Amino acid sequence: MKAIAPKTIRLYNSLSGQKEIFTPVHEGRVGLYVCGPTVYSDAHLGNCRTFVNFDIIYRFFEYCGYKVRYVRNITDVGHLVGDVDDAGADDKIGKKARAEQVEPMEIVQRYTNGFHDVMRQLNTLSPSIEPRATGHILEQIEMIETILKNGWAYIKNGSVYFDTLKYAKADKGYGQLSGRILEDLLVETRDLKNQDEKQHPSDFALWMKAAPQHLMHWNSPWSVGFPGWHLECSAMSTKYLGKTFDIHGGGNDLKFPHHENEIAQNVGACGCQPAKYWLHANMLLLYGKKMSKSDGYYVAPNELFAGTCELKDENGGKMLTKAYSPMTVRFFILQAHYRSTMDLTDSGLQAAEKGWKYLTETYKLLKNMVAPKGAKPLLDKQLDELANAAFEDMSDDFNCPKAMSRLFELGSKINALKGGQLSMKEVSEDCLRRMEQVFHDFMFKIFGLRDESADAASTHATMNGLMQLVIEMRQQARTTKDWTTSDKIRATLQQVGIDLRDGKEGTTWVKN
Ligand code: AMP
Ligand code: ZN
Repeated sequence: MKAIAPKTIRLYNSLSGQKEIFTPVHEGRVGLYVCGPTVYSDAHLGNCRTFVNFDIIYRFFEYCGYKVRYVRNITDVGHLVGDVDDAGADDKIGKKARAEQVEPMEIVQRYTNGFHDVMRQLNTLSPSIEPRATGHILEQIEMIETILKNGWAYIKNGSVYFDTLKYAKADKGYGQLSGRILEDLLVETRDLKNQDEKQHPSDFALWMKAAPQHLMHWNSPWSVGFPGWHLECSAMSTKYLGKTFDIHGGGNDLKFPHHENEIAQNVGACGCQPAKYWLHANMLLLYGKKMSKSDGYYVAPNELFAGTCELKDENGGKMLTKAYSPMTVRFFILQAHYRSTMDLTDSGLQAAEKGWKYLTETYKLLKNMVAPKGAKPLLDKQLDELANAAFEDMSDDFNCPKAMSRLFELGSKINALKGGQLSMKEVSEDCLRRMEQVFHDFMFKIFGLRDESADAASTHATMNGLMQLVIEMRQQARTTKDWTTSDKIRATLQQVGIDLRDGKEGTTWVKN
């Protein structure tokens, strides 16, 4: 059984810069493509925010009865260091593989596994298809051949470049998505070593001839090389969702050049725009500054779950003082609209922890609540209106924070019924059961939260808290030269498989 399924969904289309009513390409179905991670390192919490936001969008469409094909790729080749098409530039994955003297695919496997693990902890649903760029080299070569045949690209020294100037002059709308106009692109003075290979600075690589140190390369009609980063998403979205599909998503920072170039490639190869709607998720900040891997300014999800994040503020204090469970983090993410930036702070996470606890306790309360016989349903209308409003908020460009605030309003009524401030005689049994369903559906189906009371992660957080106490007690014993107690603590912990490690930074614990 479902609470209520809204009929109309409105979403903000980055392409038109407006909210539009969603009308699917195929009745009752949604084709959704989201740019996935580049697997050369662990995903940080900013990446996770984007994927959680699209998970909620995916869940909401399914909840409304659509059959969704959700494609989220794995970028395992072609994403160059510095995001530039420089023939001499290193591939992010290749660089890491060379540094560690392992196969690039070992790097890919390691970080894909890690990504899946974090996604599971955050309770995101697996996409319907998760294609890898390296598994679609043939499709990418074919697409380049079509683009060349259609006259939108040129070959230079074994590499193939998209001819953006010709494309823009043909008035195909280059720059429409990102709001960049070609004049701006023309004067852009990026320091590209292989500038002379390109006819124009804004041209981008479809295929690159591999430099000798490049580990990942394939045969092609033009050279032994590798595909450009933007191409994989065009090739794989077309393969799995068709030439025109419903929604293309990704982080804001992918609008240009990645998505703009993707559109150009699709128009160049297929003669049409790939997606009807483009959705862009906004960035996660950490104390006001964008979280970014390349700047080394980020929080790793596992550190946050274990409370081991060592980032310090300007006063030397820990930015994040304790462990937060995956569902606290997911609840935190839900509190900002996907198109707004969001600031990760310790106090914000603590507030999310309280909010999540309040929601679960209210739901438990509601489950056990029984209306007295013969109650007059004076409150029912108010409660139903709040529930309806929450669904409307979700149908209005997936406004989770607004829908959440309605649940909290409902929660305060339920707590007031329990506390006696509102009379139980004014609510019908039917309405209580409807509200129970609303809470259940929002919490577990739409918001994708999970009751984690028995989770390993929560056990770890509790364990970590206890271990900090034990470490402190042992430290006190050592300070007073009470070696019997400090040795006993260490030995007893060893017996249960926990080792204490003393280092410059203090004592840490590991489970064998
Ligand atoms: P990448 O693995 O770098 O290709 O990024 C994967 C996804 O995370 C992309 O959609 C990015 O736009 C997104 N992303 C990167 N940094 C952030 C951030 N600080 N906040 C939210 N999303 C981000
Ligand atoms: Zn992409």
